[in-house]
Amino acid sequence: MTVDAQGENTSKATLFTEQQERAFLQETLRLARESIEKGSSPVGAIMVNAQGEIVGRGRNRTGEPFDEDEQHPGNASLAHAEMDLYYQLARLKDPETLTLYTSLEPCLMCGGASALLSVGRIVWATDDAWGGSGRLIAWDEHPAMQQTEVCPHPFADLESEGARLFAPEAKKAFPEEGWKLWQERYPDETNGL
Ligand SMILES: [Zn+2]
Repeated sequence: MTVDAQGENTSKATLFTEQQERAFLQETLRLARESIEKGSSPVGAIMVNAQGEIVGRGRNRTGEPFDEDEQHPGNASLAHAEMDLYYQLARLKDPETLTLYTSLEPCLMCGGASALLSVGRIVWATDDAWGGSGRLIAWDEHPAMQQTEVCPHPFADLESEGARLFAPEAKKAFPEEGWKLWQERYPDETNGL
């Protein structure tokens, strides 16, 4: 959270309408589905500028070969959706005015990169009870995270959709204690897996 002495929100990122925010998060979920089709983990991310234009699209590519023509960081453990996005965007223009939308709460690497790059705002569809940065750090209190405002899961239906999409991956990729946290956080979405 970025606040001034009066406690007012001072984030320079534009606050969009509910309809716009839903559309942006739906685009991240579409990209997450594309990752599944390509053999990677279901996570998508987009960057939106102050005018509400999508300036970049990223998705998880950890299960895919490196794409030299399109310059995507595939076949690497760090080829998360947000890193794919930052790799493509190269130098960010006015990062404090940008909003990052993701289908899943960023991990410590991607959340840390976003804060380091001074991205103004991060909105995610679904919490990641095990791999998300929020399990490890308190964004609001961390000294390195004060320039970036976070907005977790603003829409219950998209949160549930994102949880159902990622739950099989959470079961497969996370240790037992991580999957247990997912089951506790999203009992309906993990039921039967
Ligand atoms: Zn990540």
